[in-house]
Amino acid sequence: MPHRPRKALIIGAGIAGPVAAILLRRAGIESAVYEAWPYSKGIGGGLQIAPNGMHVMDEIGLAGELISRGSIAESFDFYSQDGRR
Ligand SMILES: Cc1cc2nc3c(=O)[nH]c(=O)nc-3n(C[C@H](O)[C@H](O)[C@H](O)COP(=O)(O)OP(=O)(O)OC[C@H]3O[C@@H](n4cnc5c(N)ncnc54)[C@H](O)[C@@H]3O)c2cc1C
Repeated sequence: MPHRPRKALIIGAGIAGPVAAILLRRAGIESAVYEAWPYSKGIGGGLQIAPNGMHVMDEIGLAGELISRGSIAESFDFYSQDGRR
């Protein structure tokens, strides 16, 4: 049976979709990413990326650029709704 090139369809262009496309391309599989939301108004305020997320960014070669554009949080303080630490 002749080898047919595989193509993946990825639904959603959040963070997971484009990263999946990059990793699939690296594995030799082309993909198309489909997104339902027609546009972004840039409504985000801030983005915190946890260590596991940074491992993925490192894997696709974007960790250095992210670090250069952001700042590294040394710690987090969590409070309950009534102000208790
Ligand atoms: C207010 C808020 C703040 C957050 N802040 C952070 C943060 O600081 N740091 C952090 O790590 N995480 C944060 N999160 C969580 C983070 O947003 C999610 O974990 C992350 O977006 C998940 O990525 P995803 O690509 O899996 O899904 P999503 O980002 O939800 O992307 C899925 C995409 O699929 C599209 N879609 C859905 N159905 C279809 C369809 N049928 N056809 C085509 N497209 C479709 C959607 O429009 C969407 O764009 C936050 C979440 C919220 C709600």
